[in-house]
Amino acid sequence: MTSLAETLSCLDGYDPSALHVDKAREAIRSCLVPIAETETVKVREALGRVLAEEIVPRINVPAHDNSAMDGYAVCFSDLKGEERVLSEVGTALAGRPFGGKVGPGECVRVMTGAVMPPGTDTVVIQEAVRAEDGKILIPKGQNAGQNVRSAGEDLKVGVPVLAPGKLLRPAELGLIASLGLAEVRVRRRLRVAFFSTGDELASVGAALKEGEVYDSNRYTLHGMLARLNVELTDFGVVRDDPGKLEIAFARSAAAADAVVTTGGVSVGEADFTKELMAKVGEVLFWKIAMRPGRPMAFGKIGHSFLFGLPGNPVAVMVTFYALVRDALLHLSGRTDDYAVPLLTAVSSVPIRKVPGRTEYQRGILFREGTEWKVRTTGQQGSGVLRSMSEANCLIVLEHSRGKVEAGEAVQVQLFEGLA
Ligand code: AMP
Ligand code: MG
Repeated sequence: MTSLAETLSCLDGYDPSALHVDKAREAIRSCLVPIAETETVKVREALGRVLAEEIVPRINVPAHDNSAMDGYAVCFSDLKGEERVLSEVGTALAGRPFGGKVGPGECVRVMTGAVMPPGTDTVVIQEAVRAEDGKILIPKGQNAGQNVRSAGEDLKVGVPVLAPGKLLRPAELGLIASLGLAEVRVRRRLRVAFFSTGDELASVGAALKEGEVYDSNRYTLHGMLARLNVELTDFGVVRDDPGKLEIAFARSAAAADAVVTTGGVSVGEADFTKELMAKVGEVLFWKIAMRPGRPMAFGKIGHSFLFGLPGNPVAVMVTFYALVRDALLHLSGRTDDYAVPLLTAVSSVPIRKVPGRTEYQRGILFREGTEWKVRTTGQQGSGVLRSMSEANCLIVLEHSRGKVEAGEAVQVQLFEGLA
């Protein structure tokens, strides 16, 4: 098996001591092998899962030509481009077709969704006609085929509609159901284990001793991972003790496709972690040109991929969103476009920035008149988790950029999506 170091040595511009964020994402991608196993689940349970089969309709949707409006079904050629009085010969409702055939001089009352009666091709909306004693006056100026939904206009027999690797959202659940399918084949969920490292960490609920901080990282990680719909195993807090860490790495890697840890990769601690990691697997230690979140470890322990994030709470979230999210979705088998879009907004404040690293400032996107603007949340320290909580977006200041003046355009990534 090729080592990670060998795989990456071929990658253009790969420099583990000053790695561009985009390069780090690419480096991780080139090493990952997506999970292959699949399972069949009921359509409702498929929400948030990754499709593992191609969906090819075996029926047309809609199955028949039907009326898009309440009105009267007519044969267009019968109107002869003139005002016409037709006899109403019956009614068709959604789910209750008209049994007969419509001849010259005749029309059928139809409701939205009703199958078009044989012999008709056009619907005149009820508001446009005058009806008296079964005689329907159709004004001139109608268009052939108007107000009719044709069979297969949504989905056509034999024309593939969903590709494997696509995330199943509410629209896809409905679409699959519209084909009459009760079950769908999806990839199994990605298994992700996670733990925090640090001698200073106290668990919630316990009294805080001098010099301790509560372990908040495991809670933000839990939240971010749960949002990705992966299967989670929490391995708790592990002390900075080589023996305990070795056991934790071995156990978590055996239990999961990916392991995410926090702490222990900063310059002061990395040497100790490096020695230990050399025993359990192949782990690379990177200095990424980003802020917050410079140090990060990436590696492989057995068949599991390791993401060793820094300990600072904001750095954990930013490196997760900048690098780990992409990696986990790739591992999950996603092949659709899941990059979070970069939108442009006007900065309402000046922002300090030095060229040579990508910076992720916590921002609040707001509307002023017709314009979308963004300002930074207060203190931006990598330990100030409040800055993430107050924010609704990240302001992504690209690698080569210098300081930002108020009024300049910047790029932002929204925290919340719609579907
Ligand atoms: P480290 O990367 O381990 O040197 O940690 C950097 C900083 O993040 C230190 O101030 C730690 O106390 C803090 N930190 C590390 N892990 C956690 C955690 N799980 N929850 C909250 N803060 C943490
Ligand atoms: Mg630490």
